[in-house]
Amino acid sequence: MKQKIAILGSTGSIGKTLINIIKKNKKNFDIILLTSNKNHNDLLKQAYLFNVKNLIITNPVSFNLVKKKKLRKKINIYNNFNNLDKIFTKKIDYVMSAISGIAGLVPTCKIIKYSKKIAVANKEAIISGWNIIKKDLKKNKTEFVPVDSEHFSAYFGIKGFSIKEIDRIYLTASGGPFLNYPLKKFKKINKSMALKHPNWKMGGKISVDSATMMNKVFEIIEAKNIFDTSYKKLSILIHPSSYVHSIINFKNGMTKLIVHDTNMTVPIQNTLFNNVKNKTFISELDINKLNNLNFQKVNEKKFPVVKILKTLPVTSSLYETLIVSTNDMLVDLFLNNQIKFLDIQKYLFKILNDKKLKKLKNIKPKNVNEIINLDKYLRTKITKLIYK
Ligand code: NDP
Ligand code: MG
Repeated sequence: MKQKIAILGSTGSIGKTLINIIKKNKKNFDIILLTSNKNHNDLLKQAYLFNVKNLIITNPVSFNLVKKKKLRKKINIYNNFNNLDKIFTKKIDYVMSAISGIAGLVPTCKIIKYSKKIAVANKEAIISGWNIIKKDLKKNKTEFVPVDSEHFSAYFGIKGFSIKEIDRIYLTASGGPFLNYPLKKFKKINKSMALKHPNWKMGGKISVDSATMMNKVFEIIEAKNIFDTSYKKLSILIHPSSYVHSIINFKNGMTKLIVHDTNMTVPIQNTLFNNVKNKTFISELDINKLNNLNFQKVNEKKFPVVKILKTLPVTSSLYETLIVSTNDMLVDLFLNNQIKFLDIQKYLFKILNDKKLKKLKNIKPKNVNEIINLDKYLRTKITKLIYK
């Protein structure tokens, strides 16, 4: 029987990697839903190729353009995630949540009940809405699988063990494009420099987060949530070649290093297939790379955002939304050439050090609306702060 699947954010970097895996295994999958924001051209191409009957296009301009088009096939097109009842008549097998930024939170929460399994790449949702996602997963008996390479590798490495048997998990970081770039030149960094990641081909937002190292701050919070552990057990290690993705240090003195090529096909295909055979991408062990493993501590002077890790509340709160939303907005402004690279950290710390906003550390979000309302409030506040 064909597996029924849906991809949120199918026109993005993660989405397209998954689409390529499915292309090579076409007879095994039936795609029920694909979504995008603006990129209706690629979305329609995907829909024709896989005979997909349902599309969601959230951007109003793109949605209206497609609605006016004469389509080659009968396709239901929606502009929001409020009609999932019409799309899914019964539980499907697999959903990939790969919308970027906090915009992925609501769709991720809404789709959980319609799938037996959900693979979540959208780290912003895991960070800001984990309390809610966790409850929904349990209530709907939906299996969760992480997609982020460090988290998938740790998830794979600790299978069969309890978190109590683990002393420490190290998440590796390539260091991004500015690992060896002199700090005194940081003020000259522009968009194209920040988008040029040395090892990974990714979407714009996460590429900038890798350049500032915010991505690693996110990943530590993500790991704390997914593995239900404390920050004390989690560390970042700079590893420029990105061959090792995580290191798991067990209490019995044994340590596992999980390695694979710097290709997101590896974790993504493993979230899709339940067994270890029949893969589209086989990554052979590269002895040369193993001989040149190189680990370093993070330089806090160059990448001050990692200091945020020392200020995080022990249990999840609305403060994590504060970090995610503020960063989301600042990166967006940087990508639109409205602020400079160093302004991202400058304004981020301004917001995070606001005495009133610090109190969010004591508030646990009860529902998605509280997170979305805070996000909206922050967008206005940050606009005022920058354009005062
Ligand atoms: P991309 O920017 O390449 O793609 C984002 C996808 O989300 C696109 O389909 C885009 O549509 C859609 N989208 C963007 N904004 C909205 C919105 N407001 N409403 C609805 N849909 C929207 O991102 P990536 O694929 O790189 O990343 C996706 C997620 O996965 C992120 O959270 C990222 O942190 C995480 N991740 C990514 C990795 C990678 O290697 N790329 C690795 C680990 C995690 P459109 O094309 O129309 O703009
Ligand atoms: Mg990662």
